[in-house]
Amino acid sequence: MKKIDKKRLFERLNNLIKDYVVYAPKGKDFGKIEDTSEIKRESINVRLSPKQVFLPQEEALFTFKQGDIKVPENNEKYILFGIRPCDAKAIALLDKNFDTKDFPDPYYIDRRKNSILIAEACIEPESTCFCTAFGSGPFESKDADALIIDRGDYYLIDGNEKALSLFDGLLEDDGGEKILELKKKAEDSIKSPVVEGIDKKLSSMIDDPIWDEVSRKCITCGACTYLCPTCYCFDIQDVGKDDKYMRERVWDSCMFTVYTLEASGHNPRKEKEKRMRQRVMHKFNYYPFLYDEYGCVGCGRCIKYCPVNVDIRKIITKIMEV
Ligand code: SF4
Ligand code: SF4
Repeated sequence: MKKIDKKRLFERLNNLIKDYVVYAPKGKDFGKIEDTSEIKRESINVRLSPKQVFLPQEEALFTFKQGDIKVPENNEKYILFGIRPCDAKAIALLDKNFDTKDFPDPYYIDRRKNSILIAEACIEPESTCFCTAFGSGPFESKDADALIIDRGDYYLIDGNEKALSLFDGLLEDDGGEKILELKKKAEDSIKSPVVEGIDKKLSSMIDDPIWDEVSRKCITCGACTYLCPTCYCFDIQDVGKDDKYMRERVWDSCMFTVYTLEASGHNPRKEKEKRMRQRVMHKFNYYPFLYDEYGCVGCGRCIKYCPVNVDIRKIITKIMEV
């Protein structure tokens, strides 16, 4: 582990903005910055997750006009500064879905391969955090290129060559500073539900009455899925304006009534309990079946921002009790 003076790190980041698109916490949300003076956190984690960098809410796949098709090029390089370890893990999960051998997604991959993830340890996790349920933790570094730990005027930093080389000449010896206690305190403050075996349990719960019970309060607004760093459902549509046409990809949500509406008018998931079941099944049954990992990282956004207090930790606990 190394030590880096905060002021000097921010000066360096300001210089890097000439060559990189830099994203960082900007108050409530995560966004592109032009200067490090914009970096500000209103809470431990940001509301809009870093998935927007690699899977924007709206993006043009190509533009077209009378047979002339243009695919946008993207040669940008990205630094994602100050993401949380849970969000770094969520990006690793998105990689599994978009960077596949059979169906690689060039739009996602182009942005992702040119990115550097600098995660920041959570010294005081929020009451809604439960990353430890999924083998991660507030000081987990494995899914990021570097991990920084805030120590007041300086950060402790560890990472790979790609990330550390950004700060060449600024890294000092850490003087043997120990972070074990800090890490343990942060981990101990997190109350996570037990999830082990939930994937197998869910396999026989497709017709369980639990879905009606856990979805009763839901108003199907979709906030949980839009804010979720691992949710990646999208729709594709053609839009035209002023003689310009484009095919665009936009976020979609399995919580919306029309998500599975077919052209015939038939809708296999008309009832909201079926949609809640889909959301839970995807994260805790289908995802582990496909990728051997749960599709949730315990960031807590869906708990914090649900307008009617649907709490996925309580749903997990209820499933485990069946
Ligand atoms: S945020 Fe809450 S109310 Fe909205 S769809 Fe999700 S669970 Fe339902
Ligand atoms: S399901 Fe909820 S807690 Fe899990 S990753 Fe998505 S937003 Fe975070």
